[in-house]
Amino acid sequence: MSGVYNFSAGPAMLPSQVMQRAQQEFLNWQDTGCSVMEMSHRSKEFIALAQKAESDLRQLMHIPDNYKVLFCHGGGRGQFSAVPLNLLPVGKKADYVVSGSWSKAAAEEARNFGDINTINVVEEKDGLIQVKNTEQWSLSEDAAYIHYCPNETVDGIEMFDIPNTNGVPLIADMSSTILSREIDVSQFAMIYAGAQKNIGPSGLTIVIIDEQLLGNARKETPCIMNYQLIADNDSMYNTPPTYAWYLAGLVFQWLNDQGGVSAIAKLNQQKARLIYQYVDQSTCYHNHIIDKNRSLMNIPFWLVDESLNEQFLAQAKAQGLVALKGHRSVGGMRASIYNAMPIEGVEKLVDFMKKFEQEVKR
Ligand SMILES: *Cc1c(COP(=O)(O)O)cnc(C)c1O
Repeated sequence: MSGVYNFSAGPAMLPSQVMQRAQQEFLNWQDTGCSVMEMSHRSKEFIALAQKAESDLRQLMHIPDNYKVLFCHGGGRGQFSAVPLNLLPVGKKADYVVSGSWSKAAAEEARNFGDINTINVVEEKDGLIQVKNTEQWSLSEDAAYIHYCPNETVDGIEMFDIPNTNGVPLIADMSSTILSREIDVSQFAMIYAGAQKNIGPSGLTIVIIDEQLLGNARKETPCIMNYQLIADNDSMYNTPPTYAWYLAGLVFQWLNDQGGVSAIAKLNQQKARLIYQYVDQSTCYHNHIIDKNRSLMNIPFWLVDESLNEQFLAQAKAQGLVALKGHRSVGGMRASIYNAMPIEGVEKLVDFMKKFEQEVKR
């Protein structure tokens, strides 16, 4: 809005139309004379807002009726604990597919609660990083559930095929891919996502869960993590993150106005292609991930001459292209291009990368 394109991985930019609407309504929401953040979550106005947000999300993702949608606290990491507490009975084991840093962190946290079988699915072949075909994943048949992360935010690795689990409940951390492309919710027992990548501000976490899985939480599960309790109370057992819920609702409306998930998915393809195509033909930048596993949302790239990193970032910033520094664990650069990033922002980034390349070659 201030002429800056923000490539942050999360919390990430929100659609400018949403931010403007929130600003207009900030002090006086729907003629109540109050800000929505000052209102009781039990007021009829807020409950109507909450229900509308849920039904818009259900429509956007075609969520079947036998799934509950929960609006929770605690972020992605909160779910790293909530999932085993609710779904891993004492003495049973769970499979954790490891494809990058977030799925690894989820497995590490789950180990506090039970027997965790990790399955590494990333390999290097002919100098390229790729994910093994899902048929080659050695999944257990007796696991309580299988957990994986379809889009690894830090590593820029995405899996577009959904594994066949032979009936074992499949759980996906979709924090950085939810709503970016169409998915068949019915293939998952549970999907969760922290809001701060593709939904709204931080502080809100969406859980979409098959009703059949409810009611099995361990006795010691904290009440604010107990899916059954949250579902029975329409996500209002404790005070939900009301302002984040409101903003998420505005983002869902915005997404519907853009033509829904199928329309934004096409745009996301175009945006990602612009960067990958340029990087692939360049001698100044590289990305070593195989085409079929390249993330549409988080695009890491490295300068061949790493000594130019600081110069690249400083010049990008001067052009209004911010938050391009890669995650500290992998270095290099990362352009996160969630739904809210307009294609103009991506075009401006690629133009800048070209100019930078020409300059350093001179
Ligand atoms: C950002 C992210 C998380 C962590 O979210 P927090 O809200 O910081 O706990 C977990 N998983 C994925 C895939 C993420 O992108």
